[in-house]
Amino acid sequence: MPSKSSLQRAAATIAQTGRSIYAKGWVPATSGNFSIRLDDDNLAITVSGTDKGRLSEADTMSINLDGHSASAKKSSAETGLHLQLYRRDPGIGAVLHTHSVNATVCSQLVADKLQFDGLELLKAFDGITSHESSLSLPVFDNTQDIEALSAQVEQHMQSSSQGHGYLIRGHGLYTWGATMSDCMRHLEALEYLLEYYLISNGVVKP
Ligand SMILES: [Zn+2]
Repeated sequence: MPSKSSLQRAAATIAQTGRSIYAKGWVPATSGNFSIRLDDDNLAITVSGTDKGRLSEADTMSINLDGHSASAKKSSAETGLHLQLYRRDPGIGAVLHTHSVNATVCSQLVADKLQFDGLELLKAFDGITSHESSLSLPVFDNTQDIEALSAQVEQHMQSSSQGHGYLIRGHGLYTWGATMSDCMRHLEALEYLLEYYLISNGVVKP
């Protein structure tokens, strides 16, 4: 069991991050969900249906990597997508899922992925040290069958690469990082890339 203080610290970080993401308009109308790894076997995750701009400590709960919780609270319906990431990579310490307009529009413009090449901002992602790099952002079809979707994401990561994020069509964005600040940097960089995609393809006028 994770200690109460580690859950409290994680809840405070999640609440602070949530306010910042909500202010950017990326998690409207109680959408999105956020999590932080507490230890090898447990994570803290937002409770289902919470307003992400006004998260309190009570809006975050702990669950183990099998998805079980001692709490009576209900975590997001999409908890399985967080678990898939924490299970596959012990280096993942935080996961953010958002529902921005740009992520949703971009997810409907391409068949299976967005590709970004030669941009200085790619250096915002862990492991990328030069603008002479590429980042692929896969797009998966939306479904309410989260178990099937998480299996599809895992299969893609095994056959391709883990990458730094993915889109769900007509739905939103997932990204992750070693810490919440790394994860937030990835989220901001991905949102920049999505806006760049819409402008550079003439979908949106700057
Ligand atoms: Zn969602």
